[in-house]
Amino acid sequence: MPKNLTVLTDHDLSWQETALCAQTGAEFFFPEPGSSTRDAKRLCAACEGRVACLEYALTHDERFGVWGGLSEQERSELRLRRAGR
Ligand code: SF4
Repeated sequence: MPKNLTVLTDHDLSWQETALCAQTGAEFFFPEPGSSTRDAKRLCAACEGRVACLEYALTHDERFGVWGGLSEQERSELRLRRAGR
């Protein structure tokens, strides 16, 4: 396996230890429908665990809120692209 390839498992939740969202209110990451996700995405962009967080959300089919810098709609679109649809 290449050295720079990280394998994430269901048990690899270490990214949560440095999650910037844990230091803010949930309203940033679970905004009311139609509200801006800009502030959440800005925090995600600076978060060390962004990629792992996004993969976790995709793997666990998280439907609500901002995860890994993507909104529900953006994750849904990414899921479809990955599935080749
Ligand atoms: S990427 Fe965003 S949602 Fe994920 S842990 Fe970091 S701050 Fe939280």
